[in-house]
Amino acid sequence: MEKVIIIRYSEIYLKGKNRGFFERAFETNLRRAIKDYDLELVKQSGRYLVQKFADYEADEIMEKLKKVFGLHTLSLAYETDSDMDSIFEAAKLLCREEGTFKVESHRGDKKYPLTSVEISKKLGGMLLAYGKGKLSVDVHKPSFSIRVDIRENARALVFGEFIEGANGMPVGTAGKGLLLLSGGIDSPVAGYMMAKRGMKIDCLHFHSYPYTNMQAKEKVVDLAKILSEYTCGTHLYTVKVTHIQEEIHEKCKPELMITLLRRFMYRIAERHALHISAQCLITGESLGQVASQTIEGMTSSNSVVEKLPVLRPLVGFDKNEIIDKSVKMGAYETSILPFEDCCTVFLPDFPAIRPKLSEIEREESKLDIEGLIKEAFESIEKINL
Ligand code: ATP
Ligand code: MG
Repeated sequence: MEKVIIIRYSEIYLKGKNRGFFERAFETNLRRAIKDYDLELVKQSGRYLVQKFADYEADEIMEKLKKVFGLHTLSLAYETDSDMDSIFEAAKLLCREEGTFKVESHRGDKKYPLTSVEISKKLGGMLLAYGKGKLSVDVHKPSFSIRVDIRENARALVFGEFIEGANGMPVGTAGKGLLLLSGGIDSPVAGYMMAKRGMKIDCLHFHSYPYTNMQAKEKVVDLAKILSEYTCGTHLYTVKVTHIQEEIHEKCKPELMITLLRRFMYRIAERHALHISAQCLITGESLGQVASQTIEGMTSSNSVVEKLPVLRPLVGFDKNEIIDKSVKMGAYETSILPFEDCCTVFLPDFPAIRPKLSEIEREESKLDIEGLIKEAFESIEKINL
């Protein structure tokens, strides 16, 4: 008898002709997630089995697998010979001391001497005897289930629960996007959401060193690392926008500080995206969340992006919903660390809520836009995660 992990995949099934493409991406991502462990991953009729790992590493391996998009459910199972005595031995290990239970069986091997109903009945009877009166059967609302799957190779898988995976589509099947990654709560979640639909993600962060400090940068590096567990790796680029902010601060109306800075960020982001062959920009904006995220604010920043779509996967979410996702992906504790983001430097008391394009353009005409962008690009760094 051996402990194994059963991996079942999700929506990939739906992709008729492209199925091979999706499955290959999924398998590559699975292997990447568990590459640090000594184990074997094998494909078995529409699912995968992880085998030959050290028992004590099972939980850790499952945690890694739970971050692979495309994975529907997981089960920790015992693989045994398919005779009823061996199945019973495995079932005993999964059985609680008391409570109600149900046995569900499935036969992959149609030549097996018992039908699935007979397997369930027989194993149920064995477990009832084993429970000495403390166990009873409830097929409608059992407190736990024992599941048996008879394989073709005279082997059986015996397991208890279905553990929910991350679902979604395998990363690498839906192009590549450049995420504008701040140190906040929203943008890592935005990256997570797009990766969940299969998109590969690279990150771009703007800082205003020395107004923002090294800890602020480390925080972003940490967030990129957390995200990268879901995105099957990511590259993080940083760009210094200090001089841009100083110029805006000196020459333009203070209430337009954020609006103008945003437009620089989007311009720089689009150019960098095209440079690294990303096909869209991704931001963590959510409608009406702050002054710069009104539809007018979004229009103003959108209008400087010429070729690529700007995806805002959080646009319709409440802050609480975003926080729930941030907690779930494991980024929240890092996101709320109190280091300054470049947007809080030179922050005006009353940022413009509905900036007018004509006014924005008038203010911008006081700046050497191309020169400032060029200078910012010279500061670009690729951070080793
Ligand atoms: P977040 O929690 O992601 O920081 P936020 O609610 O603080 O978002 P804003 O500061 O208005 O909102 O930023 C909106 C979006 O602009 C962010 O989600 C992010 O995509 C992008 N952005 C903001 N600041 C930066 C930055 N310093 N570097 C890269 N992108 C940024
Ligand atoms: Mg922010």
